[in-house]
Amino acid sequence: MFIEQSNRLIRLLWRATWRKDAHSRTVYLTFDDGPSPEVTPKTLQILDRYNVKATFFCVGDNVQKHPEVFALLRAHGHAVGNHTMHHLKGFSTDFNTYLNDVAQADRLIQSRLLRPPYGRITFKQLRALRVNYEIIMWDVITRDYNPKLSPDKIFHIIKRYTRNGSIIVFHDSCKAAHNMLETLPKAIEWLQAQGYGFSVIPDHHQDIILKTL
Ligand SMILES: [Zn+2]
Repeated sequence: MFIEQSNRLIRLLWRATWRKDAHSRTVYLTFDDGPSPEVTPKTLQILDRYNVKATFFCVGDNVQKHPEVFALLRAHGHAVGNHTMHHLKGFSTDFNTYLNDVAQADRLIQSRLLRPPYGRITFKQLRALRVNYEIIMWDVITRDYNPKLSPDKIFHIIKRYTRNGSIIVFHDSCKAAHNMLETLPKAIEWLQAQGYGFSVIPDHHQDIILKTL
């Protein structure tokens, strides 16, 4: 599950969104673990430079600590998703605690998109959360958070695994900042040269609000 591109069996078992339309030359950049006052504004500057919109899976606790950074990324036109309140590991967190943590983050983030931290979520948690959320996994994980990997290696991972409809994971965290900030401009330029467009992951939050009115 933690290799750059997970296999079919994993994808079949964990029914979630791993990749978008394979017939469209579009990729979806996503950033996990922010908002961070040190890293998120620099990330926004790079995305603005290329006029690219992305989806940020925010940790509720970080939104609470840095509401101005959260507001900034919304103001720049990016989409947001829920990454739990306390970045919990689903496998080692009991069912109710996990669901309550997601609900707590939801009050701050208000999105129908949910990405389980580490991709670790039990079938029971997944089934329950799928009722209200689209569970977003990934097609390409850059592993930018790994200090043993260089920005060149991260760039290589992106070039090797990206394809139509790929959801690509970066992290706007201090741990990943060096690798991510150096790789991101190169990656965007390379992807553009390959003919890819960029899109945010559609969030049906508004539709659900309308349906429940
Ligand atoms: Zn995370």
